[in-house]
Order: sequence, then structure tokens, then C-alpha cells
Amino acid sequence: MKITVMSGKGGTGKTTAATNMALSLKNVQFLDADVEEPNASIFLKPEFFGNSEKAWRNIPDIEQNKCSGCRSCIEFCEYNALARLGEKIIVYPEVCSSCGGCKIICPENVIKVKKRQVGEITGGRSTFNSRSIDFWQGKLTVGEASAVPLIAQLKKKINKNKMVIIDAPPGATCPTIESASDSDFIILVTEPTPFGLHDLKIAVELAQKLGNPYGVIINRSQPKADNIIEDFCRDKQIDILLKIPFSREIAELYSRGIPFITEMKDWQDKFQQIMVDIKEITA
Ligand code: SF4
Ligand code: SF4
Repeated sequence: MKITVMSGKGGTGKTTAATNMALSLKNVQFLDADVEEPNASIFLKPEFFGNSEKAWRNIPDIEQNKCSGCRSCIEFCEYNALARLGEKIIVYPEVCSSCGGCKIICPENVIKVKKRQVGEITGGRSTFNSRSIDFWQGKLTVGEASAVPLIAQLKKKINKNKMVIIDAPPGATCPTIESASDSDFIILVTEPTPFGLHDLKIAVELAQKLGNPYGVIINRSQPKADNIIEDFCRDKQIDILLKIPFSREIAELYSRGIPFITEMKDWQDKFQQIMVDIKEITA
């Protein structure tokens, strides 16, 4: 089973939920797909294998001396990644999405492709007590606009014989979609504030469009505040899988890079119960 943990915005506790959940399970693989700022390793503390793997994407490479200057490629490119400068067609690789459309449309067949490094993938193993987690993370090259090819390459590491937890990038953009698209279940992490509700609505819309079953974890839960999320979930018939309380102890452990499940043992059962609930929802 593949479970993607996502949130409408950063800072809601997505990585807290994902890492603690991974630590409650057996035979688990963890993918940190929050490639702009991967930080799950702070909590899972993997021992990384030696070498990292480079991730690439294709960008156009124009044979300028054979180009007729017809501008078809420029007009086609929705990302404004191509421009004419004098006699030359210039490519702006940072904004190119690597869709490959310009190559197909070029009447002179003078657009080739070249590879551009977009990031790197590193793997390792986390060990907590007797449990071991197969850990992978992607790290996007600074200044690189498109995280999608890197996440797609990271997902090739998925081991179908393991329970897979994917920590997705926050938001509801293409990298989040790439992370969550073929998951068996999506966990949406939110917090009981008007901003939390606003971002949850966006994340729910995305999960509905993807067509995957989903449920909610409320982080920084407080009895007097939770109703803002509970009312919405009741109205939309969304299961609330867990509430992680607004707690000084959890916050202190977080600030020291310690997953709270390792110190507050009763939470092991609560995270394991999520899996039981997910299996019931997806049955
Ligand atoms: S590959 Fe796609 S995004 Fe990139 S320049 Fe060509 S048409 Fe534009
Ligand atoms: S479509 Fe091909 S021939 Fe036309 S301007 Fe672009 S690269 Fe040159």
C-alpha cells in the first residue's frame, strides 16, 4: 500500500505525521518527496548509502544553423521558455517544463534534446529499536523550477513489497500531484485555524480530482478550536483519522528532531490504528 501525506501549505505538521506514522509500522519504506526542503531525515536519521543518484530532465537543444526562424516553437510553448534573439532561438531552461512539444512541432526537425540535472536522490536506512525503515529522499537543485521529473525518478525506488509512506510537497501544484497520483490513500494534515481550513479545502479538492480515498489528521489539535475542521469534515463526510494535540512536550521533541512516538509510547497504538482505519476505508 502507498500512502501519501500532504497538506495545503507548509508548516502544518505533515512531516511530523508522516515520520511518526512510518515509525509505527513494520516493513516500511519512506520517500521524502518534499524535494525543495526535504527534512524527514532530521527525524528518521537514516544512515545514508555512499553515492547519490543524479536526476535529469530533457530540455530542447536547437541546431541554430539549420533553424528557419519560423517561430512555431515559440508560439507553441505555453511556458514562454523560448524566445527569438536576433537570428537565434533562445531556450530558458529554468522555466521549460520538458513537455517535449516544441520538438514535435518543429517543421525543420532541428530541435534535439539535452539533459539538465534537476537534483539528486539519496537512499539509506533508519533504525529505531528493532525497526528498520528503507529511506529515500530527493533534493531539488537550487533554482530549478520543476520538481516533477525528480519526484517521478524518486518514485521509481518504490518497493512494492513494503508499506510506502510518501511525504509530499505542500500545496496543490504539479509536484504534489506527481507525489500523490497513484497512491492507495492520501492523508491530509491540517490545523484547526481559519488558514488551516482554507488550505484543507484546496487539498480536499485536489484529492477528489485525483480520485484517491483520503482522510484527515488534525495537528495542533485543541478542543476549543477543532470544531472548525470537524464541522467541515462532517459536512463533507471525511474521516478524521487522528488528532495530534497542541502540546509542549511534542513541540519540544520536534525542536530536538525526535519523533514523539519514540518517547510517548502510547502514541504507537494510535498511529497503528490509522492503518486499521485506512484498510477499512479502502476495503
Ligand atoms: S519542452 Fe515544452 S516547455 Fe520546454 S521549451 Fe519546449 S514547448 Fe516549451
Ligand atoms: S520551430 Fe524549429 S525551425 Fe521554427 S523557429 Fe523553432 S527551432 Fe527554428
